[in-house]
Amino acid sequence: MNAKERIQELKSKINKANYEYYVSDNPSISDFEYDMMMAELIRLEEENPEYKTLDSPTLRVGGVALDKFRKVVHEKEMKSLSDLFSYEEVFSYLEGIEKITGKEEYSMELKIDGLAVSLKYEKGYLKEASTRGDGLVGEDITLNAKTINSVPLRLKEDIDVSVRGEIYLKKENFEKINEERKAQGEELFKNARNAAAGTIRQLDPKVVRKRGLDTFIYYLVDPEKYNIQTQSEALSFLKKLGFHVNPESKVVKNKKELIEYIEDIDQKRFSYSYDIDGVVMKYNYMKDYDKIGETAKYPKWATAYKFAPLEVKTKIRDIAFQVGRTGVITPVAILDPVNISGSTVSRATLNNEDYIISKDIRLNDTVYLRKAAEIIPEVVKVIKEERDESSLPFQMIKNCPKCGSPLIRREGEADWYCTNNLCDARRIEQLVHFAARDAYDIVGLGDKIVEFLYNEGFIHDISDIFNLKDYAEVLLTKEGFKERKVTSLIDSIEISKKNNLDRLLYGLGIKNVGKKVAKIICEKYRSIDEIMSLKEEDLSLISDIGDIIAKNVIDYFKDIKNIEEINKLKSSGLNMIYVSSKSEKESLFSGKTFVLTGTLKNYSREEAQKIIEDKGGKASSSVSSKTDYVLYGESAGSKLEKAKELNITLLTEEEFEEMIKE
Ligand code: NAD
Repeated sequence: MNAKERIQELKSKINKANYEYYVSDNPSISDFEYDMMMAELIRLEEENPEYKTLDSPTLRVGGVALDKFRKVVHEKEMKSLSDLFSYEEVFSYLEGIEKITGKEEYSMELKIDGLAVSLKYEKGYLKEASTRGDGLVGEDITLNAKTINSVPLRLKEDIDVSVRGEIYLKKENFEKINEERKAQGEELFKNARNAAAGTIRQLDPKVVRKRGLDTFIYYLVDPEKYNIQTQSEALSFLKKLGFHVNPESKVVKNKKELIEYIEDIDQKRFSYSYDIDGVVMKYNYMKDYDKIGETAKYPKWATAYKFAPLEVKTKIRDIAFQVGRTGVITPVAILDPVNISGSTVSRATLNNEDYIISKDIRLNDTVYLRKAAEIIPEVVKVIKEERDESSLPFQMIKNCPKCGSPLIRREGEADWYCTNNLCDARRIEQLVHFAARDAYDIVGLGDKIVEFLYNEGFIHDISDIFNLKDYAEVLLTKEGFKERKVTSLIDSIEISKKNNLDRLLYGLGIKNVGKKVAKIICEKYRSIDEIMSLKEEDLSLISDIGDIIAKNVIDYFKDIKNIEEINKLKSSGLNMIYVSSKSEKESLFSGKTFVLTGTLKNYSREEAQKIIEDKGGKASSSVSSKTDYVLYGESAGSKLEKAKELNITLLTEEEFEEMIKE
């Protein structure tokens, strides 16, 4: 489909959605899907201005005034708001305004998900209420508006004033209405916004009163008449007149405060008793509005940041298989890219075979995808109704997608593994893991460069990284490797050699040895030689190290290939000694486990525990062979008895104090 055809298609889809939403109050697609179509249409029209026509929905407010109401011509057009969906777009919007005004002060407000209303007062009395309609002509809803408690029939001052705001329905009222409709066998409202829109356009005001609509007023027409200079002053003025003004508005004075506001509201967005679909940022100084300008559809001095829904629909185009450094095979869904929580997502992990089968995820399925804040995107649910009849259940691959070796699945595990130690994909992942920031932290040695160096034969084992300097000349002949890049890579490799031992131990990629375990082992055994000569029982004595990890470590250092590798690293000059970050005094109880029992005279249990932990020890609740000390006070019970049986060192409070003093 070319751009012209797509523009046509989007226009007719959006027009249909507008009708369902604004006229029938019964949308068939989500607001997010609508917003995404609109964003695509705006982009295509910008790229192909020759196809932009005057009837485009990008140029007009989407509603229409129904004939069943008297029509009201608005004194001042009621426009819509432009939408932003990512922080990138927010920053570029702010920069645009700053260029014109030199300021970055905004009135931040909740974007209430209801429908716009205009209220006109004469000498303090409500004269007319109207909907937005198409922005120029709205519907007279005065009788209905008078039934809404928060719409003042008389203001606190006898003035002429026109204001605008949002009519909305609280979530609890929406649920009540739908319950009643269900009981009556009537069609349910899709959401509170549509219920509010449907209600205010009821011809019977009694029904409207019963449904409990509410309002928030946020806009003052002709503020200069009342000597109001800023949007924030306008809100205070509206409140003083007796309008219901949303309490969550805030003036922000820079980008940081603005983003903090968005993030704070995003966190709380479901906790309000009414629906919001974003926040509105309004440039605060009204005198600059003309300078900033507006389009036919919306002002430029205000815009909406729309929250992405927590779940969005997309399609699985392919299922790829990643090979990890341990050989683990992870299926990954390749998706039609979607914007979710402010970022574009095109891949989502499918974890393992069991996960896929339990959710019956298949190629070409339409799925709901979720990504909250920092969380990795996940497929929440398959929309089975949209599945093609020809679709087949998922089949796990039987061979490594990189080296072709047969995969194995060990008993009791959900993962399939490539067991070929020489599998290129595994080796590359091992090297990437070693050089990563949280491991050996070699600046400039990211995954793309590792892959390149591996494929070009420069590195195969970890120890090869430290010989790269011998190949600097050859590297310089490779595309993309300028002198500065090569020098800084070699420099950072040299600098990394001084790294503490726990980084090396973690970077080696021993199964089950994460960052924390590596540190615990190094705190107790402070050189690689000591660690290499350990026995399983030595390691199991450390309280956080279980039998499996102990076996993994011992097995690793038993392997002759690994011993040779460590020897090469030693001769390349890597630091092989652990320097504890805790001072000697602090680590008085390093690696020691205490159990407290009975009542101490001078310390509460929490205080004693804190002293132990500050000095590197750990307090545990039960006595076992791994306990180093039992500190006991008055009325000590069974724990003391058990400690005696196990021959564990017992400490009185006085002995404990003596140790701390030392
Ligand atoms: P909009 O709702 O995105 O934004 C403009 C409106 O926000 C204003 O007119 C006002 O009513 C409201 N608003 C709420 N709080 C506000 C505040 N504090 N300050 C200023 N205004 C505030 O735009 P729109 O043109 O009214 O409607 C378009 C939107 O409606 C779409 O983005 C979509 O979400 C929804 N829609 C959905 C469908 C569908 O089929 N699902 C169809 C059409 C429209």
